[in-house]
Amino acid sequence: MEKIQMKTPLVEMDGDEMTRVLWQMIKDELLSPFIDLKCEYYDLGLKMRNDTDDQVTIDSANATLKHGVAVKCATITPNGARMDEYKLKKMYKSPNGTIRAILNGTVFRTPIVVKGITPCVSNWKEPITIARHAYGDVYQNVECKLHKGDKAELLITRANGDVEKELIHDFDSYAGIVQTMHNRKDSIESFARSCFNYALDQKKDLWFGAKDTISKQYDHTFKDIFAEIFEKEYKEKFDSEGIVYFYSLIDDIVARIMKSKGGMIWACKNYDGDVMSDMISSAFGSLAMMTSVLVSPSGVYEYEAAHGTVQRHYYKHLKGEETSTNSVATIFAWTGALRKRAELDDIPELVKFANKLEFATRQTIEEGKMTKDLALITSMTETVTLNSHDFIKAIRKMLESLL
Ligand code: NAP
Ligand code: MG
Repeated sequence: MEKIQMKTPLVEMDGDEMTRVLWQMIKDELLSPFIDLKCEYYDLGLKMRNDTDDQVTIDSANATLKHGVAVKCATITPNGARMDEYKLKKMYKSPNGTIRAILNGTVFRTPIVVKGITPCVSNWKEPITIARHAYGDVYQNVECKLHKGDKAELLITRANGDVEKELIHDFDSYAGIVQTMHNRKDSIESFARSCFNYALDQKKDLWFGAKDTISKQYDHTFKDIFAEIFEKEYKEKFDSEGIVYFYSLIDDIVARIMKSKGGMIWACKNYDGDVMSDMISSAFGSLAMMTSVLVSPSGVYEYEAAHGTVQRHYYKHLKGEETSTNSVATIFAWTGALRKRAELDDIPELVKFANKLEFATRQTIEEGKMTKDLALITSMTETVTLNSHDFIKAIRKMLESLL
């Protein structure tokens, strides 16, 4: 069989630990035999980040801006223990944070649904995608403890020098706490555009909820910005795709989500997205079955698995012990990126290949062959638990039968 040819390079960001091991297996078994892979390679493994003072992360993000599509392996975010383990020059920031800041994007997380791994919520038939606004609010807050007798006031200095002061609370007879937070209009606008673009890309409805009835300035601004951008820039496109944008109070959205059959993209403010993405991933089965894509408002895409480097499995692997690590989300990161690259470059056979690889992956699980994490939660009775490599080889066999 002739290998599929690519046109524009895909930005490849390699990573750490067990996912780095899976990364190579996926390329060797599932991609390179079928595609003449054209990748611009960046090694975001912690050693290389340390050797380059993290310049490699910045370079990889800039390459993504240039070429338009990237695929990323999970990476270590350094902490104290990693400083010693990797003898780091400094405690580098999370690569995902660095990349997100450069691409200015929104992260969309979607569970991979297969038969036999059923969501806890029985009426959820299709995946629910969470879009989390990853700027501001409580994550960039200013907060303080107050003593009895203290007074908290909000002081604003306007551009012309005018000063406005507003009492937050007078702690005249008790101690307490105070918190302030902010957001930026440009960031909310980018968030809104990323969500509308992604909804069009996926041809799915977009839901958004905030607490605008209580927060008449802050949350109401989110609601207004979404509404204005939708009316001006997206309404016609949504109409012609037959999809809808639906805004409601966050409480109402949560209640409706629980009763829905799924299938929508749910835009969440920063804190809501943090919390709800964990609820969605656990309700749909496993973090190892969750894909993630960072979409910039200008239409640049970076695909990855939602889970981390699976450190515990890696240490077993290093000791020569067998591992059964789930590669599904990492495979779907590759298929997502390849399909997007293929759509942009008009390579229909590559779109078909990506679809077939996803189908083969699902089909392998649905025939009962899976990794240990899935074997523990499946409703199927006759299953075979495979090790990390054998699971990928089983997918290869299924894929070859489809080609
Ligand atoms: P993790 O790598 O997601 O793994 C946590 C646990 O979840 C694992 O020990 C394993 O449970 C289970 N798990 C996750 N992915 C799995 C898979 N593919 N197959 C089977 N089981 C899976 O999170 P972590 O251990 O907290 O973090 C490890 C490193 O990853 C950290 O250095 C962190 O900074 C980094 N991280 C990176 C990203 C990213 O690059 N996007 C995201 C999160 C974390 P059992 O041990 O019970 O089998
Ligand atoms: Mg969370």
